[in-house]
Amino acid sequence: MNSLTNIDQSVLRDLNLSLVLRHLQDSKALSRAQLALLTGLNKSTVSSLVEELFQLGLIRETGINSNGTGRPATLLEINPLAGGVVGLELGVDFVTVLLTDFLGNVLWRCQKTVDPAEGEKPTIALTLDLIDEAIKQCKESNLRVLGLGVSTPGTVDLKEKVLVFAPNLHWRNIPLGRIYSQHLGLPVFIDNDANAAAVGEHLFGMARQVSNFIFVFAGVGIGAGLFLNNELYRGNNGFAGEIGHSPLAWNPALQIPCHCGNRGCWETNANQYSILRRAEACLEVKRNTIITPLMERKNSPLSIALLEEAAGEGDQVALDIFTETGEAMGLGIASLVNIFNPEKVILGGPLSIVGDYLLPAIKMSVKKHALPEISDQVDIILSSFRIDASVFGGIALVVNNILLNPSQISKEVV
Ligand SMILES: [Zn+2]
Repeated sequence: MNSLTNIDQSVLRDLNLSLVLRHLQDSKALSRAQLALLTGLNKSTVSSLVEELFQLGLIRETGINSNGTGRPATLLEINPLAGGVVGLELGVDFVTVLLTDFLGNVLWRCQKTVDPAEGEKPTIALTLDLIDEAIKQCKESNLRVLGLGVSTPGTVDLKEKVLVFAPNLHWRNIPLGRIYSQHLGLPVFIDNDANAAAVGEHLFGMARQVSNFIFVFAGVGIGAGLFLNNELYRGNNGFAGEIGHSPLAWNPALQIPCHCGNRGCWETNANQYSILRRAEACLEVKRNTIITPLMERKNSPLSIALLEEAAGEGDQVALDIFTETGEAMGLGIASLVNIFNPEKVILGGPLSIVGDYLLPAIKMSVKKHALPEISDQVDIILSSFRIDASVFGGIALVVNNILLNPSQISKEVV
């Protein structure tokens, strides 16, 4: 056998290992015979691949299948204790670090607020401390650390693992991959927050087995993960999905300046700040509302959480503010629905804390502005991870890489 054939064999074996592991990830539990049927590989090849996945600690036995017509067979499943995974979300005014097992079950979580005006250095220093704590927790649970997945706002150079530009943070050309991998000595994966969240929804969340869906991340910024034909669509330079900077408003009164330098962007009309701006306008004209008394009673400034509380008590002004924001959000989503004809649109990120108030208006707006043949078929829902959708996305970046390259695990993990 010459060396080229050896390489081919090794590549083929890695592909087959990944194929078996991904079938187990898609299903709850499978026997070796079922895996052979699903993969088209012969039974002895499957047995050998399964043995290697056992050696890597990625799968485990889970009982006997005695319901079929054949003889009882041992069932196999993904091993949740294959290792711990650390996720980091760099928000505009917060950071979240999450530790989960290999199946995304939460073991530890910490969120801290940060001041975007202070620049990247203190924020990154804080995240390094939090990640160190997550790794400590992981080792105390007797789990190896499989890697770190980072989700960040803005455009990301995936090859160089560099944050190119995040308008809402005013960060440019930050080599996040180098910073985190040098400090941690761990495999590090980085992606834009909406893209990462889309991967998370497909792996663990509301889009399992869904081939065409759009994840809409909504917070200070608004971005989309376009998951089309079973993979993320990245565009020519990898920057696709910056929907928040698509123009939504042509009325000069609505053309608020955006951090990107333009006016009238979608995100200025439907982000967290737009909600506070609408509330301030209502208070200025002294509409009858419990918002002001609530602020006084709680000695609190105007905030989304406070408006949520007012809406919960039936305050019409708060409810109208969420409806108007949902209508603006729906206007943008209607365009996405018309262009991409997705099966689902999933809303997550910080603004999904008030998702239950936004969703009815979003649906109405999409119904009004998208073609009925398309909008009738689309399911518009909230992420089950809500405000943590992107940090779960960070977890998913690591898990996804192991599912695609299982043999790398023994070479890289600490
Ligand atoms: Zn913009």
